[in-house]
Amino acid sequence: MNDLTGLGSTDHLSIINILFLILIAILGGLIVWLIMRSTVIKRQYEEIRKAKEEAERAYTSKSRFLANMSHEIRTPINTIMGMNEMAIREDARGVPKDYFISMMNYAFDIRNASESLLGLINDLLDISKIESGKMHLVEQEYDTQDMLRSIVSMIRVRTVEKELTFEVVIDEVMPKRLYGDMGKIKQIVLNLLTNAVKYTPRGGLILNVSMESRENDVCTLCFAVKDTGIGIKEEDMGRLFTAYDRLDEEKNAEIQGTGLGLDISNRFAELMGGQLWCESTYGEGSEFFLSLGQKIVDATPIGIFIEHDDIGAKGPYVPHFIAPDADILVVDDNPLNLSVIKGLLKATRVFVTTALSGEEAIDKIKDNHFDFVLLDHMMPEMDGIETLEKIREIEPDIPVYALTANSTTGEDFYLSKGFDGYLSKPVDTEVLEKVILKYLPEEMVEVIDRDEVVEELKELPENMLWINETEGIDVDEGIKNSGGIGSFIFALELFLDTIDSNTKVIRDSYEEGNIRLYTIKVHSLKSSCRIIGARELSEYALKLEKAGKRNDIAFIDANNDIFLAEYEAYKEKLKSLKVVVSDDEDKELIPADELEDAYATLKEMIPLMDYDAVSMVVDGLMEYKLPDDDAIKIYDLSKMLKIFDWDAMEEWIKNV
Ligand code: ADP
Repeated sequence: MNDLTGLGSTDHLSIINILFLILIAILGGLIVWLIMRSTVIKRQYEEIRKAKEEAERAYTSKSRFLANMSHEIRTPINTIMGMNEMAIREDARGVPKDYFISMMNYAFDIRNASESLLGLINDLLDISKIESGKMHLVEQEYDTQDMLRSIVSMIRVRTVEKELTFEVVIDEVMPKRLYGDMGKIKQIVLNLLTNAVKYTPRGGLILNVSMESRENDVCTLCFAVKDTGIGIKEEDMGRLFTAYDRLDEEKNAEIQGTGLGLDISNRFAELMGGQLWCESTYGEGSEFFLSLGQKIVDATPIGIFIEHDDIGAKGPYVPHFIAPDADILVVDDNPLNLSVIKGLLKATRVFVTTALSGEEAIDKIKDNHFDFVLLDHMMPEMDGIETLEKIREIEPDIPVYALTANSTTGEDFYLSKGFDGYLSKPVDTEVLEKVILKYLPEEMVEVIDRDEVVEELKELPENMLWINETEGIDVDEGIKNSGGIGSFIFALELFLDTIDSNTKVIRDSYEEGNIRLYTIKVHSLKSSCRIIGARELSEYALKLEKAGKRNDIAFIDANNDIFLAEYEAYKEKLKSLKVVVSDDEDKELIPADELEDAYATLKEMIPLMDYDAVSMVVDGLMEYKLPDDDAIKIYDLSKMLKIFDWDAMEEWIKNV
């Protein structure tokens, strides 16, 4: 029988077979595809997971690295800055004066370099905190005038150094006390001012602070920083607030910077609900503005802003208070940090006990009474927090401040752990003194009115008035640069006493062709001249310094003699200072036998080159009024002694 469909049963079978095979193939393919898909996805997923883990690990190790770096770097900087501060404050009496001037110049250079290093590290930390969302507001009550003063005094030093003008205009109606994140405001304004100094080769800057508006207990402040600097190109304006971006690289190659400051400032401003912006004309200058709201605590107007000058060579350091009966305990595992704190508090005369570990601190607290404790946070074995818990068991009420190099943890953290507050390293002496003063019982403390100390010499003494007529010395500038009238007179004496020895070194190094030493010496002379207000001579020294740096021997050849002659002319200009030294009518005339004794001792001691003995005799003689001849002789001897010129002293003693 014929199949009506035209297909035989074998054909049917083969179609079914084919369909079946196709189905199997599809299924097989599907299974393979599914398996492939799951493994590929799995692999991809695995890869993504790994990448994420790696990124997280890298991120945490970056954060950990930064936190460690902060601690590891800030701690030694703290030591350097603290030790340097102590060197600056050493009592200079009895130290040869030219040696003292050189040391001070080095010390001020160390201070500048460590401050900029610290600034750099703080910037890096800030950026990493911002990026990881860990930057928070640290709000507190603060004194408006104090904040502005500390900003102005820091920038004043830099503008004096760079010979820029710095005008400060502060709204008299600014409220006396405000509430907000003072640290961040200060950081932004300092950054704007530092940039203005950095990017202004000549001319100057103006800081203008005003209260724009006030509504109930909130006011809007505006800080404007204007400079006559290089300006910013219109096309660069968009990149101004971007991290790591520096503009005009060619022109700015010699100016140090990371391109972080403005980005941080901008983010801080945003965090505080404020705004930061800039207007600039390329080649003419820029003006940066920060506007933000602050809560008012005390609306009394600050009145006329008085800026305390804090520059240059000062007399002995004046602390805020003295308290010889106060006992404080400082705990830190690093002995250098302990000696820094001890040194910083030396002038206050408080008694500082030290402990190198939490255990030692607890033992000392068990046996003694302390009025205040400063406790390092990060210590091996028992850390600051654990130590505090134990201290609280023994002395629940004793004020304890944390000492920390870790700027990532704020006040809230330490308060929550039971501390009364915290101080960050490097410790600022002013803050340290103020904090301790807050906790000492009143009867233990003698508060020193620092304004009064400065005011003691509001005018030049009568016998110094001739200095106003002295050509080549700008008295007002000298007083400003040396930090007061007393220090100005001190600086003038130093200047006069070192003319001979400096001239010798400059002349010798020039003749020997030792341009490096020559440059160092004229560099340090430049600062000394500026301190006494000898502006033109200082500018001349700067020209020679620059010539030395670029090895321009022709310029030095042409100018060295003229410069030295002008410098030496100051011996004549300042000769009346000698009279001031010996012209003290209040002193008793020296008894003849005492004078004889003194000469006899000098005859014995000078050949032995006994510096201490000779200077003791000289100091003893200075207590008396001497006959004119002897006064001049002793004055000459004291000059030789200052520069250790033993040959000249031997010659001198033969002739007396
Ligand atoms: P930097 O550490 O490089 O100074 P900033 O973030 O503070 O970093 O500034 C970014 C860039 O903006 C600077 O490199 C500079 O090119 C430019 N700039 C900042 N302030 C000024 C200014 N007052 N005048 C001219 N250019 C400025």
